Amino acid sequence: MGSLSASYFERAQEVIPGGVNSPVRAFKSVGGSPLFIQSAKGAYLKDVDGKEYIDLIGSWGPMLFGQAHPSIENAVRDALSKGFSFGAPSYNEVLIAEKIVSMIPSIEKVRLVNSGTEATMAAIRLARAYTKRDKIIKFEGCYHGHGDSFLIAAGSGVATLGTPDSPGVTVSTAKDTLTAVYNDLSSLRNLFEANPTDISAVILEPVVGNMGLVIPEPGFIEGIQQLCKTYGSLLIFDEVMTGFRLSSSGYQGLTNIQPDLTTLGKIIGGGLPVGAYGGKAEIMNMIAPAGPVYQAGTLSGNPLATSAGLAMLNLISEHPEVYDALNQKGKALAEGIRQQLSELQIDGFVNQIGSMFTLFFTNKAVKNFSDAKTSDTAKFGIYFREMLNQGVYLPPSQFESWFLSAALDEAHIDHILKASRIALEKTLMA
Ligand SMILES: *Cc1c(COP(=O)(O)O)cnc(C)c1O
Repeated sequence: MGSLSASYFERAQEVIPGGVNSPVRAFKSVGGSPLFIQSAKGAYLKDVDGKEYIDLIGSWGPMLFGQAHPSIENAVRDALSKGFSFGAPSYNEVLIAEKIVSMIPSIEKVRLVNSGTEATMAAIRLARAYTKRDKIIKFEGCYHGHGDSFLIAAGSGVATLGTPDSPGVTVSTAKDTLTAVYNDLSSLRNLFEANPTDISAVILEPVVGNMGLVIPEPGFIEGIQQLCKTYGSLLIFDEVMTGFRLSSSGYQGLTNIQPDLTTLGKIIGGGLPVGAYGGKAEIMNMIAPAGPVYQAGTLSGNPLATSAGLAMLNLISEHPEVYDALNQKGKALAEGIRQQLSELQIDGFVNQIGSMFTLFFTNKAVKNFSDAKTSDTAKFGIYFREMLNQGVYLPPSQFESWFLSAALDEAHIDHILKASRIALEKTLMA
C-alpha cells in the first residue's frame, strides 16, 4: 500500500534500534507498523498520511487538557523569544517549584530533572543516603523508568534476592532490589521480616498505570506506610503518571497519606521533558549543593520546559473542575464498555479511576501483575488494530493505561464507544 508511515518506519529501522526511540511505540505487541505523527491539536492526532485519530495516549499522560493547549503554546512561545537554555538559574524555576510545593502538601522542597527516570534514580539514591541502607523494595509490574535498580525481576522466595530483568544490569545491582506483590501486604511484610534493617525505601506507583491500570485495595497503601514506619524505611510515591492526573495534588491528594518522597514527571512538563523529585525539607537538604548527595543536570530547569510546566500547573489551578469532568467521562466510557462486554459475552475486565482506564481481556479481576498477565494479548491486538481503523489511537499494549483529556467531549466518547463495539465484535470473529 505504501503509506508514508510505513516508508518512514523502514528508514527508521536502518538508523534507530527497532525504528523508535522508546520501545512501546513500535507496535510490537499489537502487530502492524507504527504511525508517524505529523501534528496534534485538542483531542486529535494527525498522522503523516493525513488520517486523524482521537488521542487516548496523550503523550503517555502529559496532555491533561488535550494537545497543544493555547495557554501552554503561548507560554512556550513567550519563553522561546527570550532564549532557550542558560545553564544558570532562571525565575521560572522558582515559580514552578513554589507552585509544586503549594499544590502537593508532602513536598516541602523539590529538585527539577529532565525525565521521570532521572527523578526515580535520584530519589532512591537520596533514600539510601538518608537511611544509610542499601536495599529498596518495589512491586512487580510497577514501572519506575529504566534505571538499573528498577529493571529487576523478583527472586523465587521471600529471602531471595532479585535478578536482572535486562541484560546489562549487574547481579550486584539486582541484589539490592526486592520485589513484592501489588495489593498483597503480606508479601511486603515477608520482605521486611527477612531484611529488617536493610530496606532504605519502598517505592510504588500508588495507582499503577504501567501494568495496565491497577487500583490499590482499601488499606493497602496505609499498610505500606505503617510497615515503612515500623522498619524505619522511607515511603516513595512514584507519581510520575498520577501526579496532577488524579487530582491537583496527585494520588496523595485523594487520601491522607503523605509519602516521604514523591517523584513527578509527564504532566509537570506540559509535554516538554521535565521530571522532579521532592519531599520533606530535612531529606531534600541532603541533595548537593545543600548536602553531600550528588545529582546534577545540564538542562535541568530548562526555561522552555519550565514555562510549559508552569502554564500547565496554572491551568490546573484555574480549572479545578477538570478532575470531576474527566471522571465523568472515564465513568461513561467504563460503563459503556462493560455493557458491551456483557452483551457480547466477552471475557473482559475494566479498571478505571478518573481519567485513567484499561480494558483487560481476561475474566479475572485485575489487582496485580499476575492477574494482568492472564489477559489475552492476541485479542487486545485485534481490538487495538480495529480501534485504530475506526480512528481511535489507544496505547499499543495491553499493559498500559488509556489517558483521557479535557479536550474530549461527549461526541468523542460516543465515537470511542461505537468504535469499541465494532472492535469487540472483531475479536469474536478471530
Ligand atoms: C513514565 C514513568 C516513569 C519514567 O518517566 P520517563 O520520563 O519516561 O523517564 C517513571 N515512573 C512512572 C510511574 C512512569 O509512569
